[in-house]
Amino acid sequence: MLQQTTVAAVKPYFLKFTSRWPNVRALAAAVDADVMAAWAGLGYYARARNLLKCARAVTDEHNGVFPQEHSALLKLPGIGPYTAAAISAIAFQQVATVVDGNVERVMARLYAVQTPLPDAKPELTQKAASLTPNARPGDYAQAVMDLGATVCTPKNPSCTLCPWCASCVAVSNGSATELPKKRPKPQKPTRYGIVYYVERVDSAVLLERRPDRGLLGGMLGWPGSAWDDAPKDAPPVRATWTTLPRKVRHTFTHFHLELTIKTARLTTAEPVEQGAFIDRHQFRPAELPTVMRKVFDLANAPELSYDQPILKNRT
Ligand code: SF4
Repeated sequence: MLQQTTVAAVKPYFLKFTSRWPNVRALAAAVDADVMAAWAGLGYYARARNLLKCARAVTDEHNGVFPQEHSALLKLPGIGPYTAAAISAIAFQQVATVVDGNVERVMARLYAVQTPLPDAKPELTQKAASLTPNARPGDYAQAVMDLGATVCTPKNPSCTLCPWCASCVAVSNGSATELPKKRPKPQKPTRYGIVYYVERVDSAVLLERRPDRGLLGGMLGWPGSAWDDAPKDAPPVRATWTTLPRKVRHTFTHFHLELTIKTARLTTAEPVEQGAFIDRHQFRPAELPTVMRKVFDLANAPELSYDQPILKNRT
């Protein structure tokens, strides 16, 4: 959950998940759609799919117990070098170096590394590894991550509170706030899409579950066009459509999205080409990913404006 996401955003989700699925076997037995719904709003939905796959792999292949070997951890779905090192150090007290964005910032400043990110990653990892102690490596890993998150912050590091202040090169040469250097990011392109919000007279709404692979994979959403430069208008059902004057704008990791919303109220039975009608009482807007929730809110209260992303960088 913490990959690319702050502790504050994760906290309610973590508490909800661990109370609903208190152990790995319970999670492995969960219904996929329930897990995706519980993750809605947290973004980066591949993590939810991987979490579920990982719980099932641990249950089926490791008798419900996480393997301790680093190489076995790396074979589990969704576990890469960062998470494997975090589990090894924090859960199993093995000497492993955990490097997240916070740790990279601390290392870049401590040693005044001038190479910009992401090229500096191997050097920063090596510096972090050289400081990792044999004693209490899990506590050390958490301490450095917390130091980066709370003391060695991006804009205003509290160097006078930092236990490494006396040996920090960036402090001695006054370059702390300029580090780490970063390669300029390419401009995000804008993609466009059309989304269809249709309600039947009995208040059922037309929803579709997105394919497992790809952006928002496995999540519920409104039927719509592909997201590209010139989306094709192909309504999922024959109806009289109204185009809302306002659009939904949302920012994903690699692109901005601008969605045109078309709404309709269906009074006759018509064949549906995309999605299925779901009773309004069986569907909860909170189970939609953020961009689809914005569409729902706007379709139901067109005076709202989503011209600006409200939950930046969440999908
Ligand atoms: Fe960061 Fe300041 Fe500590 Fe250096 S002294 S590691 S810049 S908080």
